[in-house]
Amino acid sequence: MKNIKFIFVLFAVLISANLMAHEGGHYHKGDGINLKTWNLNTGEKVRGNFFLAKDDKIFIEQEEGIIKSININDLIMEDQQLAKQKIAKFLAINNTNPRTDNIQPIPVNPYKFVPFILLSFLVLCLFIFKEELINTYIINSKIGISSISFLFFITILIACSKSEVATTASTNTTTTSTFIPKTTSTFIDSAYTAFKPAVSTSFDNTYFYVASNGIPNHNMMIGITNWQQQVPISQAYSGSNSWSIPLQPAYATTPLSTKSNFMKGAVAIAVNGIPIFNALNNRGEDALKIGELDNWGGHCGKGDDYHYHAAPLHLSTLNGLKPIAFALDGFSVYGAKEPDGSSMSSLDSCHGHITTGSVYHYHGTTDYPYVVGAMKGKVTLDPSTTAPENQIIPQAFTKPVRPATTPLNGASITDFVAVGTNGYLLTYKIGTKNGYVKYSWDANNKYTFILTDIDGVAVTNSYQR
Ligand SMILES: [Zn+2]
Ligand SMILES: [Zn+2]
Repeated sequence: MKNIKFIFVLFAVLISANLMAHEGGHYHKGDGINLKTWNLNTGEKVRGNFFLAKDDKIFIEQEEGIIKSININDLIMEDQQLAKQKIAKFLAINNTNPRTDNIQPIPVNPYKFVPFILLSFLVLCLFIFKEELINTYIINSKIGISSISFLFFITILIACSKSEVATTASTNTTTTSTFIPKTTSTFIDSAYTAFKPAVSTSFDNTYFYVASNGIPNHNMMIGITNWQQQVPISQAYSGSNSWSIPLQPAYATTPLSTKSNFMKGAVAIAVNGIPIFNALNNRGEDALKIGELDNWGGHCGKGDDYHYHAAPLHLSTLNGLKPIAFALDGFSVYGAKEPDGSSMSSLDSCHGHITTGSVYHYHGTTDYPYVVGAMKGKVTLDPSTTAPENQIIPQAFTKPVRPATTPLNGASITDFVAVGTNGYLLTYKIGTKNGYVKYSWDANNKYTFILTDIDGVAVTNSYQR
């Protein structure tokens, strides 16, 4: 009996010490590390794990974080089925949990070392003191044997409960110093409130969604001196095509500069539901400097989609000290002042900073780069795009109604007025003569454009959207 008890004590001590030393507890090595092979109809194989889905594409995360998009229909039937299951699971998870790649590690509980220290002390005692003492005070003592059993039980509990923390921490070693609290939907929503109901908002655990028709609450177009002949038409930035702001920002290892990236799509979404593009247009020119922008810092793209390239600082008039936009990495964009009303502190190369009592945020300014100098936060790049014309996903898409137009040399836009509730009249000037673009739409999305040049020659074009 005495020997059995002695063996139990030794066994308890050794097992407990071993569990404590087993970093990660019950960590299954295969989790998130095994890469799946996706088979395409062409015979091509893509190794990587399902990352996200959009429209009829799935995005696969390969080694080193490289994202590749695959059209679901290009997969062999068996993998198509799997992709559909993954999408269903992905949608379910996104409605209940934050994205796992955004989870910040929980700081390691220092108390987990207490049993380990006690056990080490006990092992030391076994070696230092004589067996007789151990027999007297532990093996033949009810209190001694009970304490050892209790310690054994507690140690196993603690060792097994830490697996989640250890797994997360081991994949991201720099996070303790870069912890960013999850942004509350209430905070983001408060910045959009003044612009409702033209803008509507919603959220899940991963994203805050902004829906709008892409037409701002201010006049447009006047002030443009370098015009591509595009005009504003409404866009369906709603439902699954809403703008998405990540609720849990994470710092990028190397922030991507807007000088050599993101010349496609938006980099931020303003609080009035209008996207903010890179300060540089898709030819790499400063859109504001070359006269492409109106008095509000915006103009229209090839889809006749209105967007800003400069900082819409005028939004502070309605929004006070609240943010004027949110970047697509999840960080807020403030106007000329700090959130507490003090004047703006100096900015880093990303065009933002952390001030006392705040998390990282950008500022809009009147000088280049106006809004975002580099993306401080992690973003996912559309794998079908390449730098500098790469774009961030998820991203709302525009829907054109007519073929893209060409620059009209020498034209300055002097007036832009609504005609009824379903049309606009734009007036431009070349020299001393006026030209006009009058356009309207009906309930069936038929758009009619009447283009009158400076010699009075009118052309009418109709398009079905
Ligand atoms: Zn533009
Ligand atoms: Zn600031």
